[in-house]
Amino acid sequence: MWLSSQKVGEVSGKKQWTSYILLLIKCLANKDLGAERRSTMSGLSITACFPFAGVKVVRQVVHHDVGGCLIGLEPDRRFRPRCHACGKPARTVHSAGHRRVLRDLPLADRQTWLEVDYRKVWCVDCGGVRVEQLSFCDASRRITHRLARYIYDLCKMLTVEEVARHLDLDPKTVRAADHVFLKSEFGRTDVTGRRILAIDEIALRKGRRGYMTVVLDYETGRVVWMGAGHDQGTLDRFFAEMSPQQKAGIQAVAMDMWEAFINRVRHHCPQAKIVFDLFHLVNAFGRVIDEVRRAEYVRADREGKQVIKGSRYLLLKNADNLTEPQRGRLDELLELNTTLNAVYILKEQLREVYACTDRRQAKRLLDAWCEMADQIDHWQVRRFIGRLRYFEYGILNHCDYPIGTSPLEGINNKIKLIKRKAYGYHDSDYFALKVKQAFPGKETSNFLGGEPHFTLSSGFRTPDSGFR
Ligand SMILES: [Zn+2]
Repeated sequence: MWLSSQKVGEVSGKKQWTSYILLLIKCLANKDLGAERRSTMSGLSITACFPFAGVKVVRQVVHHDVGGCLIGLEPDRRFRPRCHACGKPARTVHSAGHRRVLRDLPLADRQTWLEVDYRKVWCVDCGGVRVEQLSFCDASRRITHRLARYIYDLCKMLTVEEVARHLDLDPKTVRAADHVFLKSEFGRTDVTGRRILAIDEIALRKGRRGYMTVVLDYETGRVVWMGAGHDQGTLDRFFAEMSPQQKAGIQAVAMDMWEAFINRVRHHCPQAKIVFDLFHLVNAFGRVIDEVRRAEYVRADREGKQVIKGSRYLLLKNADNLTEPQRGRLDELLELNTTLNAVYILKEQLREVYACTDRRQAKRLLDAWCEMADQIDHWQVRRFIGRLRYFEYGILNHCDYPIGTSPLEGINNKIKLIKRKAYGYHDSDYFALKVKQAFPGKETSNFLGGEPHFTLSSGFRTPDSGFR
């Protein structure tokens, strides 16, 4: 009999074993009917479907009512058992007749269960009794390697929940199998030959602990690293995985004006040019514009208030994306209020600084910008000028390395999708691996377009000074 009551107790309480238990109960109920219900596959052998080393197929039972197959496996005594812990052959068998039940790949539309008889061995190297090694499963897992591999492949397309439903498994089992394969493929940080990086933070949840830092290889689009947090320690963890030579090979890093990132990049890669991202800069100035708008609203008369009211969107949105009526309203607003007109022009001129490819010209534009901004009597604008002066080096570096974190902005949207797909994303390690899997990068192209690999001579011009 291929059933033991002890086994039933062992597998109960887990979702993925309910089908197995159902199968066992059915078989128990029908045991008097014998071969009528438990039809063996009339002379056709399915042994070849289970080509596992060191074991032989001794039973095959297909139960039609429940839709399950049971495959009995026994140790092939021609082979010496090995210790599962150290993998070495064991001289002494401690005891035999132990049994494990595993889920395997489905056979046609049937769930397939392996009933594996195994031995315990006395291992000299480990100095104790160990279970024997099985080539097709881990000692601690309840599914075979090949089912785990199938789960991993499915998880590339489906959510964990969907895969669990499809295979009638516990979502935790599905996620664990996916995690193991992800770890082996993407667990190691691949930093060889990286030259241009983009670093940004993404907010997954509200609060300080909801942030993660993403490091992208700008040339290939590969997510190189991802870790919880967005402080100095976060980037230290990333750089700790790089050798001194690899760190020395980093030429430029695109980022937001965020002290923690600037500080760590300067510390670990002092030669790297820091380039501040235009999108973040315009966003920061957008917040200043909004403050100015509020101040102007308070100061305005009744008619002025009418025009300024609800204009936040008009001022902050990219001019190209405005509809015709919105454009009309914006023109009316800018005509009425000279201060708002000035900050609006300043916003557009920030982009012009970034369009500049000549360092000296960019510097001239930036000086002119600050001079014009200085005319506006608002403390937030003055504060922004101070920041701009302080971070000027990273803005001018854009002339030498025309990079930004915009590829990461695009990734951000996809990351949100992965967050929904990845069951239990509060496991930041699993989540980071899923993101790395989704952005393996293209080793033959880059985000700048044009040539397959940009080099200093093609994509960038050599910086004209050590100024940074
Ligand atoms: Zn051992």
